[in-house]
Formats: sequence, C-alpha cells, structure tokens
Amino acid sequence: MGKDLIILGAPGAGKGTLAAGLCPALQIKHISTGDLLREVIASGSALGQELNGYVSSGALVPDELIGRMIKDRLGAEDCKAGVLLDGFPRTIPQAEMLEEILAGLQRPLGAVFYLSVDLERVIRRLVSRVSCQQCGRPYHLVNLPPKASGVCDDCGGQLIQREDDKEETIRKRYATFMEKTRPLIAFYQAKKLLVEVAASDNPQDALNFVLQQPGVQQ
Ligand SMILES: [Zn+2]
Repeated sequence: MGKDLIILGAPGAGKGTLAAGLCPALQIKHISTGDLLREVIASGSALGQELNGYVSSGALVPDELIGRMIKDRLGAEDCKAGVLLDGFPRTIPQAEMLEEILAGLQRPLGAVFYLSVDLERVIRRLVSRVSCQQCGRPYHLVNLPPKASGVCDDCGGQLIQREDDKEETIRKRYATFMEKTRPLIAFYQAKKLLVEVAASDNPQDALNFVLQQPGVQQ
C-alpha cells in the first residue's frame, strides 16, 4: 500500500533537508506544491493554462484547481508507492479536500509531520545565507563562508542577502506561518495523525525520529 505523508514547517525549519532524507529512504515522491505548480504550467496542458491565468496575473489560485492538480499528480504511476506533500494543504478546506482525494484513491493518510522550530533558531539559520550577485553561488557565513569576506570565490562577484532572508522578513513570515498553520495542526492532532518533530542542529536526528514513527514503518 502507498504511504502518503504531509510535512509542515515554518520557512527555515529544515523541511527541505528532512524531505531529501526521508523520500529516498521510503521510496516515495516529494511533492512540493510550488514546484508542481511551475511544472504543470510549463507543461502547457489544459490545467496548466488555466493555472497560468491566475498565477501570471498574481491572483490567488482557487482551491478547486489546486485540488485537481494534486489529484492528477497523486494518481500518477510514479506516486503509487506514496508521496510526501509539502506546501499542501495550507488550510482546513484544503485538508478536507485532500481527505476526499485520498479516499477516492483508497489511500489513507499515514502521518503529518510538523517540524517545530523556534523563531530564534530560524533567524540564526537564515540570516547567514548569502549568494553571489553575479553567478548565484550560495554561501553560508558560518558553515560555508567565502574565502574573502563579501566576495564570491568563483567569480569575484558581490555576495548579497536575499530579501527573504532578512531578519525582519523572517519574523513576518514566521508569524504568518504560525497563524495560518495553527488550525491545521489542531485538525490533524484531533485525527491522531500529527507527529511533532523538534528541529535539531543535526538533521540526521530528525530523520531517524521520523523513520521510527508508526505511520511510516513498512
Ligand atoms: Zn560568483
């Protein structure tokens, strides 16, 4: 039977790292809604064109369309063994929609992992990220610093911080995430599907913990 899982976490909580370890270990697909949206639009399919109408005008994509996109993807051959959903659902109506989609595919939801992380840790992690203005090479001022301060090793370009990684932006995004996600956490808690994963400095700890959970085991 397939193993369908959800991952929730504030920006900077380490979702990407956990997903990169978890999906190969369970042989499931990592479905990031943002990436999927770009892929479907790029495919030029009827659904892609419809989605593009909203995205290109900056309008909010209706849940019904997002649901159709997720349903198509989950039903695909390479998702039969299961998926890790990242970026969907974001709201209770979306969570209810997902229940319907999975019921239609006769696939029960295995678990919902919530990567909890405190704001100070997120800030420590993200404010140190910079990248080269010229070639885009990423650096981390603590873990992967450039040889000369503020200058790219490869091309000599100037290292800059993304707007998203500025402390004030991080604080805002974190607050928005917590506010929006709290109802979803309660929703899955009530269904006994929520597993809280404490963020750790060692990503392997989080992965080991997740792999031991009942909803994940073979
Ligand atoms: Zn460079």
